[in-house]
Amino acid sequence: MIAIIKQGVQKNQIDTLVQWLENQNLTVHISNGEFTTILGLVGDTTKIDIELLENLDIVEKVKRISEPYKSANRKFHPQDSIIDVGGVKIGGGNFAVIAGPCSVESEEQIVEIAKKVKESGATLLRGGAFKPRTSPYDFQGLKADGLELLKIAKQETGMPIVTEIMNANHLELFDDVDLIQVGARNMQNFDLLKELGKTKKPILLKRGLANTMKEWLMSAEYIMSGGNENIILCERGIRTFETYTRNTLDLSAVPMLKELSHLPVIVDPSHATGISRMVKPMALAATACGTDGLMIEVHNNPQKALCDGAQSLTPDEFSDVMNSVSKIVEVMK
Ligand code: PEP
Ligand code: MN
Repeated sequence: MIAIIKQGVQKNQIDTLVQWLENQNLTVHISNGEFTTILGLVGDTTKIDIELLENLDIVEKVKRISEPYKSANRKFHPQDSIIDVGGVKIGGGNFAVIAGPCSVESEEQIVEIAKKVKESGATLLRGGAFKPRTSPYDFQGLKADGLELLKIAKQETGMPIVTEIMNANHLELFDDVDLIQVGARNMQNFDLLKELGKTKKPILLKRGLANTMKEWLMSAEYIMSGGNENIILCERGIRTFETYTRNTLDLSAVPMLKELSHLPVIVDPSHATGISRMVKPMALAATACGTDGLMIEVHNNPQKALCDGAQSLTPDEFSDVMNSVSKIVEVMK
């Protein structure tokens, strides 16, 4: 339920109303826009007398929100959310590119790639340390050691770091990670989402392999309802009957989610297509349909990559993508 407050109402009057609502076991989200203040009410609103609320002097209108996701809903929070990741802003007109290898393999590898992608304009460094691999016989990542190497690359370049968590028990290892990724395979790991809701860390929530946008927003809601509203959504392609590409990039998710939610939405054309030469056209298309950023896999030697070499760009290819993407970013302003 949302309560739209009349224009020009004093803050202390709003505070009194908020207090009254909170005393009825509701959580109140206050969204202060340029002209209107909206109170988003979460919890069991069935006991609230809508007429009573609507008849209060300071209330303009009361509306029930039919969608099951509340905190993530744009009706609750009409302005775009801007997420600060270690000083880099994403959303609300702030475009950011996350780049780096699928997996951290060695200090030389991650530091060299970090320097190269930074030169080309990437503002955040990615690198998997805990890798969710389909086969247990494949490289599983350097785990805690990989996180240490990422931190070295962060020190050397000043870039905030992004890496995936697979298990809530590892959370203490992620203190210096700026953006914690929840991968596609864990989008509905509700226990993990609940634990992340108790932190204040920005979370990059990737879309599940075969999940609807509603399910995806409900996963965001799990984190938000715990008190952590720092979420960035990442479209990374979904399973369809198509086999020429690794997944099918659902670009319509970008404008649709931006309509439904205030959370930033970024696109990962690398996992979406699985083919390095498809990354540039899909990165451009994603930028043209309003994404708030991109996540692109880059490797200094893709043929030798321990994971996802076929979809990884060389640093030179990444630089070329960035040149073209930046032109579209200008057009979209
Ligand atoms: C990744 O980003 O390396 C990854 C495993 O992505 P996804 O969860 O989208 O497959
Ligand atoms: Mn990968």
